Amino acid sequence: MASRKPLIAGNWKMHGRRADLAALRAVADAVGPAAAAAVDILFCPPVTLVAEAAAAVKGLPILVGAQDCAEFSDDGPYTGEVSAPMLKDAGASHVIVGHSERRAGRAESDTQVRIKAETAALSGLAPIVCVGETLDTRLSGAAGEWVGRQLAGSLPHVAPIGLTIAYEPIWCVGTDRIPTTREIEAMHAQIRGALSARFGAASERVRVLYGGSVSAKNAAEILAIEGVDGVLVGRASLNAADFAAIIKAHPAIR
Ligand code: PEP
Repeated sequence: MASRKPLIAGNWKMHGRRADLAALRAVADAVGPAAAAAVDILFCPPVTLVAEAAAAVKGLPILVGAQDCAEFSDDGPYTGEVSAPMLKDAGASHVIVGHSERRAGRAESDTQVRIKAETAALSGLAPIVCVGETLDTRLSGAAGEWVGRQLAGSLPHVAPIGLTIAYEPIWCVGTDRIPTTREIEAMHAQIRGALSARFGAASERVRVLYGGSVSAKNAAEILAIEGVDGVLVGRASLNAADFAAIIKAHPAIR
């Protein structure tokens, strides 16, 4: 099995002011250089803070990403949109696309997510493509089919450098619910199979994260599950001590 460097990513969503960027150094100090060498650590603050965050992490083992990008890469009359080349210029290395809060709240389709991922990759950003089923779908036994369909429609045609998948069951995002170990393991195995079928050997470098109510309390258990290459963390990434504890819970560090 290929060894992929784990990724622990924080999604601040619509939280954060400039003063909150002190958390980035606090996390780097709390985890120490050995931990930072063993895992990639990524913060995705709101777009207003990306450039300042990128400046603040200079010399620190921390990456900065964005939470979304426009489908269009050329500048143009798209009020309110921020393009992937703009994010790259601001210092981002990654961008989340297809988060469930955008798929549901903004009715983003799989095709739009795929175009965003491709635009990001062409701009030199590593796309983090989110997929995940609703509770009804999980209860009806169709979660695998749902996620398979999302992957088929949302993945770029070739595996770009840094492509990451985040499996985020919608019923676990912001709810304090998490799937069972078996459910996470089974879905990650299915996603790995789909990646292999789509990208062949190149799929080995694609990381598959779990996301949804990861906390300092449950991180060790989740990060030890077969096939989990890291986590995408919402609420707990807003607290430097909690986020540092999640990073330190990775088996590569403990
Ligand atoms: C998320 O927003 O991607 C997320 C997983 O949120 P939370 O950790 O708060 O459930």
